[in-house]
Amino acid sequence: MFDVIVLGGGAAGFYGAIHIAERNPKLKIAILERGKEVLTKVKVSGGGRCNVAHAEFDPKEISKNYPRGERELVGPFHTYCSGDTMAFFEKRGIQLNIEADGRMFPATNSSQTIIDCFLQETDRLGIKVLKNSSIIGITSLDGNTAKGDYSWAIKTIRNTYQAKKILVATGSNPKIWELLRQMGHTIIAPVPSLFTFNIKDERITGIQGVSTNANIQIIPSKVNNGKFKAALKKYSIQSSDLESEGPLLITHWGMSGPGILRLSAWGARILNELNYNFSIKINWLPAYHEEGLLRQLQQIKEIEGRKTILRTKAFDLPKRLWGSLVKAAQISDTDKWADISKIQLQNLAKQLTGSTFRVDGKSTFKEEFVTAGGVDLKEINFKTYESKIHPGLYFAGEVINVDAITGGFNFQNAWTGAYIAAQAITMELTHKP
Ligand SMILES: Cc1cc2nc3c(=O)[nH]c(=O)nc-3n(C[C@H](O)[C@H](O)[C@H](O)COP(=O)(O)OP(=O)(O)OC[C@H]3O[C@@H](n4cnc5c(N)ncnc54)[C@H](O)[C@@H]3O)c2cc1C
Repeated sequence: MFDVIVLGGGAAGFYGAIHIAERNPKLKIAILERGKEVLTKVKVSGGGRCNVAHAEFDPKEISKNYPRGERELVGPFHTYCSGDTMAFFEKRGIQLNIEADGRMFPATNSSQTIIDCFLQETDRLGIKVLKNSSIIGITSLDGNTAKGDYSWAIKTIRNTYQAKKILVATGSNPKIWELLRQMGHTIIAPVPSLFTFNIKDERITGIQGVSTNANIQIIPSKVNNGKFKAALKKYSIQSSDLESEGPLLITHWGMSGPGILRLSAWGARILNELNYNFSIKINWLPAYHEEGLLRQLQQIKEIEGRKTILRTKAFDLPKRLWGSLVKAAQISDTDKWADISKIQLQNLAKQLTGSTFRVDGKSTFKEEFVTAGGVDLKEINFKTYESKIHPGLYFAGEVINVDAITGGFNFQNAWTGAYIAAQAITMELTHKP
């Protein structure tokens, strides 16, 4: 029998258990973990470096990084945000470094630092960590007076435990979602988020490793215009949500980089519906639109007439990409500015500001990925992270229908939810023993 059972020994579970114990050291707390190891995702996170949070401290601003949860998280972030996460780790002797793009990592650049911190804390606070304890049943004993305050029975493959309060932090686990569904919760169907785009196209063949800032827009492919529009409507997605500006990286398989990953997150549902067959339109020079650029190209033609186009450094673009787009505009390696026709110039302006690529499938982004979907946010009280359907049951982390773009925001969702649930649980148990 425990005061609190935390379901799942991942990021949110550990953070929640530590905060409950810290607020009330008398409480008996257990973490049930199905695996033989805990915190396995933390271990591999951020390419082994653990991108633990993001240096965005404004609740409204940070919430804009969550395609699912944007509205609901503003309040929770007012209570607990990135600055609090930093303070938590700093208090425990872990310095977090902020990189130029805002991502925060432990100064050791090792996720093991975060794991060691959590394990030391659970040890210090007397929290029981029960591994190899796959949960197969969650039962509410409400109304059964013989059970007193112990209103939850949690069945694992080995034992059955009872608890006064439970914190469900099982991440994207389909079995637990199914149990919650049977208990009356709505589960938004899971689909992958944070992936890279598979593209086979001559223009990017042989130039992998090229990285540049670009404006990228998801558009329907020639064959699925109708389906695309219907999906936009179905998920209430604005076409502006499917446009992003940021670093784009050309890979062996297609395109990656923050600009692409951002689109994969905002488009997670609609792209799944389209079976990952769609197109993207890229403006490689986001400061220009097509007509403006054409005028600029005409001026270059007049001034630099004798120069070879391929060798002109006309814009701030990687050389290999420039070469590839020049070729795509039907301009040869030796053509000089003075030699080319108006049509070729127009082609070049089009390639530079609006080249279209067909995307055919997706690949996993190895540094970070999440699942969009989970417990419907309408069924959670965001002041406490308690279920509106089952009092005494709390959620934290990826189990709920919240996910973010890459950059440390997914962990912040786990830390914030776990902290708030922990405060609410402790308050209940401390004041109503
Ligand atoms: C490769 C990779 C890298 C990532 N890198 C980053 C990053 O750098 N920054 C970032 O912000 N986010 C990152 N993420 C996302 C981040 O890891 C998750 O959002 C976060 O771990 C969610 O925490 P959680 O506690 O909700 O779930 P999890 O960390 O997944 O923990 C859930 C735990 O519950 C256990 N569990 C599940 N079912 C049961 C059951 N039936 N019985 C008992 N236990 C169960 C699981 O085994 C697991 O230990 C990454 C994800 C991946 C996959």
